[in-house]
Amino acid sequence: LGIILVISIQPGVGSSASESKRPAQNISTVDTLMDLVRNMFPPNLVEACIAQSRTEPKPPENGSVPLEEWELEEKTVSGSNILGLVVFATVMGITLGKMGPQAKPLLSFFDSLSGAMMLITNWVIWLSPLGVLSLVASKITEMKSLEEVVGQLGMYFLTVLIALIIHGFLVLPGIYFVFTKRNPYTYIANMAEALVTAFGTSSSSATLPLAISCLEEKNGIDSRVTRFVMPIGATVNMDGTALYEAVAAIFISQVRKVPLSFGQLVAVSITATAASIGAAGIPQAGLVTMVMVLDTVRLPANDVFLIIAVDWLLDRCRTTINVIGDSLGAGIVQHLSRNELATLPHSTQQTQNGADCHATTSI
Ligand code: ASP
Repeated sequence: LGIILVISIQPGVGSSASESKRPAQNISTVDTLMDLVRNMFPPNLVEACIAQSRTEPKPPENGSVPLEEWELEEKTVSGSNILGLVVFATVMGITLGKMGPQAKPLLSFFDSLSGAMMLITNWVIWLSPLGVLSLVASKITEMKSLEEVVGQLGMYFLTVLIALIIHGFLVLPGIYFVFTKRNPYTYIANMAEALVTAFGTSSSSATLPLAISCLEEKNGIDSRVTRFVMPIGATVNMDGTALYEAVAAIFISQVRKVPLSFGQLVAVSITATAASIGAAGIPQAGLVTMVMVLDTVRLPANDVFLIIAVDWLLDRCRTTINVIGDSLGAGIVQHLSRNELATLPHSTQQTQNGADCHATTSI
């Protein structure tokens, strides 16, 4: 969808920016994908709660070496490694399931911990309108000139926005309707608090507890589905990011007057999807993994500066679509597994904490 729109609208054609002659920079698609695999198996679980590993260029001692020739090193950067934690939680869940009665104390511990977290989340929801307002207001005051930003990149901004709206409010609800035959718009409206938070924080991960809470309490999704689908969704399923990365890379190639063949467009669509999987659910992570997509069309990573001015706003929009995608996905999974869910015992106690949070077997 993104590729079709950016090719028809051509927001980058006619720009006065110079043609690109610079060589591609050295972090490749393989490096980014290997980072993903490495993060799946964290060496230290406690560290995985606050840090993840990433391949980055290492500044040379001799300052005159150009960026493209910098050596790469594997670095630990801050930001929780949700993928690693999800993999561990899955293995732990399977193990507890196999252990039988012996696993009961640990299971009750996680049940109770999860109930407590949901209750805290419910309190935090009350503060979210103020929080979101402050986050967006601070960004708007940082902006030098609205006209300048919108003027230069207006068409690019609009292209991404139109594509995101079509995807989030037509394509995804359509898929949900085809599977469940229910009204997707009521379902999305019930997610309003989570969507506003996604817009305010630009982070799928930060929105995760709220999204789970809206799904369970307002959309009636089973906690066994939400607690499994949503953490994975927040980490790997990013429709909005994939769409934006493809549009951005093709926009940059239009600005740089680099013509793209059909094969290259297919490659852009595949790498944009892979890059969105590799992106963490944190603000502007997509801008970083876009290096992969730019690399596919042989453009230097530094060219992201062409779109940086509007990225903070587009990031909010694409994060909202990412959360809509995950939420509708959870609804579809719930519908498709309704028979299994009905037969499998819900091996949990329900915690009555006023907000009717469901304790679950998974963490
Ligand atoms: N901020 C996005 C998210 O958390 C990721 C990105 O596209 O930068 O979903």
